[in-house]
Amino acid sequence: MDKSKRKAIIAGNWKMNKTPSEAKALLEEIKPLVADADCEVIACVPYVDLAVAVEAVKGSNVKIGAENVHWEEKGAFTGEISTGMLKEIGVEYVVLGHSERRQYFGETDETVNKRTKAALAAGLKPIVCVGELLWERECDITEEVIARQIKLDLWDVTEDELKNVVIAYEPVWAIGTGKTATADQAEEVCAFIRAQLAKLYNQEAADAVTIQYGGSMNDGNADELLGKADVDGGLIGGASLVAEKFAAIVKAAG
Ligand code: PEP
Repeated sequence: MDKSKRKAIIAGNWKMNKTPSEAKALLEEIKPLVADADCEVIACVPYVDLAVAVEAVKGSNVKIGAENVHWEEKGAFTGEISTGMLKEIGVEYVVLGHSERRQYFGETDETVNKRTKAALAAGLKPIVCVGELLWERECDITEEVIARQIKLDLWDVTEDELKNVVIAYEPVWAIGTGKTATADQAEEVCAFIRAQLAKLYNQEAADAVTIQYGGSMNDGNADELLGKADVDGGLIGGASLVAEKFAAIVKAAG
């Protein structure tokens, strides 16, 4: 598999961590450490940190992403944020369908699809998260679960739009647990995702999609995971909150 056909992307998912002033301080630490990165570097931060974060990374190679977005442009959706709001302040990426949103906030493949379509229409780049639960893996239905998520989450996404989609394979049992999928397990599912994309679109389109692995990736295991043919980057939770650890993962992707 020719990895040069796609962009390596390391994205931090800060989750519900860091106030605006803490976000600025962490980004100031991260920026010089990743300045010579050979991959795309993104920090996905809480909504209230976004404006400060966009300002903080100006003139650097770090891009800013949100952790969710609503599919409607405006209206009676108390507590929600629209694509237009994110675009206006300079946000480029948005994490969608993270397992914590699926697990705690009722996110479904249908709403992930609506958010993905809206993000793409607005010119935001979605990082669409998919992954199986532990018991789904134990019941040997990982591929069925992933195939279903890929098909539904990307429903009606055109081949042209697919160029701006990043997929993050995040086995739910590996997120925030310290349990990492082995590099072979990560590769197996990332390759399966690419095969599904080839079925839904075509091989050329599938080969151009960046597929990240996420789930307790850290400075100690990044090299091996990122060395796999179909693992093009990482979505990093815990380790993205420590500048040196995040920078070491970025280096491993270069
Ligand atoms: C995540 O939140 O997307 C994630 C992968 O978390 P962690 O790296 O902490 O497992």
